[in-house]
Amino acid sequence: MPGNGEDSGKYSGNPRCSFCGEEQAARNVRMIKGPGIYICEECVNICKELLDGPKFQAVPKIALGEVPTPREVVKYLDEYVIKQSFAKKVIAVAVYNHYKRINHLATPTVEIQKSNILLIGPTGVGKTLLAQKIAAILDVPFAIADATTLTEAGYVGEDVENILLRLYQVAQTQSPNANHAEVLARTERGIIYIDELDKIARKSENPSITRDVSGEGVQQALLKILEGTVANVPPHGGRKHPQDEFLQICTNNILFICGGTFDGMEKIVERRLGHRTIGFRANQTERGQDQKKSRYEILQHIEPDDLIKFGLIPELVGRLPVTAPLEELDEDALVEILYKPTNALVKQYQYLFREDNVELKFTRGALKRIAQLSKNLGTGARGLRSITEKLLLDFMFDLPTKREHGTLTIDAKDVNKVFAGSIVPFAASEDEDDAEPGESMQLASPEPRIQKREGQLELPKIEPDIAR
Ligand code: ADP
Repeated sequence: MPGNGEDSGKYSGNPRCSFCGEEQAARNVRMIKGPGIYICEECVNICKELLDGPKFQAVPKIALGEVPTPREVVKYLDEYVIKQSFAKKVIAVAVYNHYKRINHLATPTVEIQKSNILLIGPTGVGKTLLAQKIAAILDVPFAIADATTLTEAGYVGEDVENILLRLYQVAQTQSPNANHAEVLARTERGIIYIDELDKIARKSENPSITRDVSGEGVQQALLKILEGTVANVPPHGGRKHPQDEFLQICTNNILFICGGTFDGMEKIVERRLGHRTIGFRANQTERGQDQKKSRYEILQHIEPDDLIKFGLIPELVGRLPVTAPLEELDEDALVEILYKPTNALVKQYQYLFREDNVELKFTRGALKRIAQLSKNLGTGARGLRSITEKLLLDFMFDLPTKREHGTLTIDAKDVNKVFAGSIVPFAASEDEDDAEPGESMQLASPEPRIQKREGQLELPKIEPDIAR
């Protein structure tokens, strides 16, 4: 309703725009009067322009066409993650459905449940890596949290909301020129990986232990953000204070991927299925190997009830509708991890050595030794890095001073030497492909000593060819 300036009230006589502060008489503009306030027509026009302009996309719609198909996702994951084909497939489909669901939210006819994912598998087999790579392929922010550090509000530890803050901070770093609304929009379609979910299970497996109330409390707190809520997040982390201004982050479209080893879960599943359904081979020598394989096989039959028996609260289980087991990595898989993925360890070290004009090569036997050492550590592929680092340490220390050029070939004996007396023993039998006697890790100098022989792993520009 346009005002004519004759109204009485706060600015009676000569109304003043409550937004720009101009007096009506000064600019001869029309005024709209509200209860105790005025707005001039110029300010109204500015508002109109704003409202007609592009909307802040609180929840950006990701067109399904832009989301890679499940097959494309798996293809991409294959470049980085060795094995785990079942988990890759499950994740690829879940992610695709997740984005279908987001698009569908605009015109809801059927309520589609969020496809949060639970990855179950031993340490160091690629659970975090898979989640990380999914975030990379979708170009969304990614944050990792450890469930064991989380506490329910009011206890010492980290508030569950801080996970969201971390995601926001990642989004901020990824798009430094974006404004708050844009960063928030990126955050709200990010991916969060929550590790060690099994460690906050109630100890219901053992009835003699009193219920683990704090674990259950954390589960309750997680449940809220997993199912979708608008969380009040303290912008600087830490504890919430009533006088703080909160970041409001909606978790409806944040994809949660949880992971854990869930030790003993196979027994729960097995008990439900009945021992004979799975069946172990009677052969004693094959039994150990078989049991390991069986754990992965058994876990493919996991059902929500098993997770509840393990100690997850039913509501949380309900919010993790997609479960994928991951297999243990055998020696061959660890060897592959060393040289095959796009950013494989061997490729990384080769790059570093090349900077010092040294061509670094590993024999297949050397890679097998490294894999054996890592396997003995019992931490999946996690040990590979520290072992390789230790193996190459002296060279990396000396090379820059020596300024020698040439080829450095590392074979099984070199590994044996560095790790002789190691606390993680391994079978030190000689490999056929490392049969050249007395050969040791040397820098070819002054003439490059190109050591080419049968079985040598050379890491060329394209796919490395390992001699069998
Ligand atoms: P976890 O299963 O405990 O989450 P991670 O995914 O963190 O294990 O693995 C630790 C590291 O080991 C990764 O960063 C990666 O370098 C390596 N790794 C583990 N599993 C695989 C795999 N299947 N393929 C390639 N690399 C892997």
